[in-house]
Amino acid sequence: MDINELIIESSSKQRQALLNKDVSATELVKAIYDQVESVDEEIGAYNSLTKEYALETAKKVDEKINRGEELPPLAGIPLALKDNINLKGYKTTASSKILSNFISPYDATVSQKIKNNLIPIIGKANLDEFAMGSSNENSATRIVRNPWNKNKVPGGSSGGSAAAVAAGEATIALGSDTGGSIRLPASYCGLVGLKPTYGRVSRYGLIAFASSLDQIGPITKTVEDAALLLNVIAGHDEHDSTSLNQSVPDFTKDLKKDLKGIKIGYIKELCTEGLASDVDKAIKKAIEVYKTMGAEIVEISLPLIKYSIAVYYVVATAEASSNLARFDGVKYGYRASDADTLYDMYVKTRAQGFGPEVKRRIMLGTYALSSGYYDAYYKKAQQLRRLVKNDFDNAFKKVDVLLSPTCPHTAFDIGSKIEDPLSMYLTDIATITANLAGIPAMNVPVGLDSTGMPIGLQLQSDCLNEQKLLNVAFKLEEAVQFNYGTPIKMLVK
Ligand code: GLN
Repeated sequence: MDINELIIESSSKQRQALLNKDVSATELVKAIYDQVESVDEEIGAYNSLTKEYALETAKKVDEKINRGEELPPLAGIPLALKDNINLKGYKTTASSKILSNFISPYDATVSQKIKNNLIPIIGKANLDEFAMGSSNENSATRIVRNPWNKNKVPGGSSGGSAAAVAAGEATIALGSDTGGSIRLPASYCGLVGLKPTYGRVSRYGLIAFASSLDQIGPITKTVEDAALLLNVIAGHDEHDSTSLNQSVPDFTKDLKKDLKGIKIGYIKELCTEGLASDVDKAIKKAIEVYKTMGAEIVEISLPLIKYSIAVYYVVATAEASSNLARFDGVKYGYRASDADTLYDMYVKTRAQGFGPEVKRRIMLGTYALSSGYYDAYYKKAQQLRRLVKNDFDNAFKKVDVLLSPTCPHTAFDIGSKIEDPLSMYLTDIATITANLAGIPAMNVPVGLDSTGMPIGLQLQSDCLNEQKLLNVAFKLEEAVQFNYGTPIKMLVK
């Protein structure tokens, strides 16, 4: 098989090619680097490349194959790692000037697991600064362009991870999701994106944005690849006290189960108003597909969704203001050189090191936590967060899975929302409640709109029920046959 054809494929075909010795892991990694070389100047998916590690790992995989040893399921499959996840000996910048010279002294737990599974990491993927954003336009490095249409945003904040996979610059990727940052870019780039249950995956070594909401998860071409990558990264970690001490099932096991008798609830507030007409049509079609598979479809109302953006932007900014206090020019990263006193150094470092969106979040969060306003904002938001969770608990007494669009519209034009933070925040309306409630949620591509941009459908299930979620997603994927290879074919020379 032509190697340019192979980079379009998901992991199963690539693995088969490796095992058949049609190509070596080294050749596959080199072909991916050729693709990076030819497209990334325009796409902007990577902040930095990790060639030495990738080629070393590929060599180990080739040696194992030649010795006829058993290979871990994703060994040799090229991965993009979001640049807010530490990888020892390489830069981790969170796409911020304040960390532009920071080299990780240790591996995040997920990075260690990636290494144990002999997965070559191609590079550190671009993101919105500190994962704050929905379009990847808040990166201090450069913007990322959507491989389906380079005038459109790829979604954020894991825009680099998604664009890398969509452009054939990696086969699989890791992102992080605080309010939708895995699912939104997956939706805009025609990929599968999964935010696991809060605590399913260790956050040790992930640069914290909002610790009670952050979760690392896969962005891939197929549901099977998402399940395989979740198998690699899930599990209890003694370095993260919020990681759940639960056994990890094989997430690929139930993918093919039939859906007879399964109950799927479409979320009334997200499915009936304010949708772009092509998104509306695609969602209705997906519902029909599920019906033909024997699923029972019911309407579920989650009326508190209308408060969720407000709740999220209080909770997330409050936690961010506290988490980002550590970047003071003393311990890590950038330090302003033109300061006379210690105080002056703090102020100048933070003024010069953080971008406008990060400063806006720190100010909002500090305000919400200040003694005079704490009860009015932070406490109220926490109370509402509990009610949102109760709403989901009640919904999952009635249905197995909830369905909605991932976003009311498809990818928007670069520059069209950046001056209007509120309209940018509204792109998260369908995704943030899963983080507030801690439940798993994923994006599955279901078609293209009239301008040729991907439409994403969101599925959510109860805590720790990723298997059901992946099963319901897999069945839809099978029926839809979405062509994730389109942009790669356009880009491959
Ligand atoms: N778009 C949301 C925000 O800007 C979510 C970001 C995320 O999930 N990291 O906060």
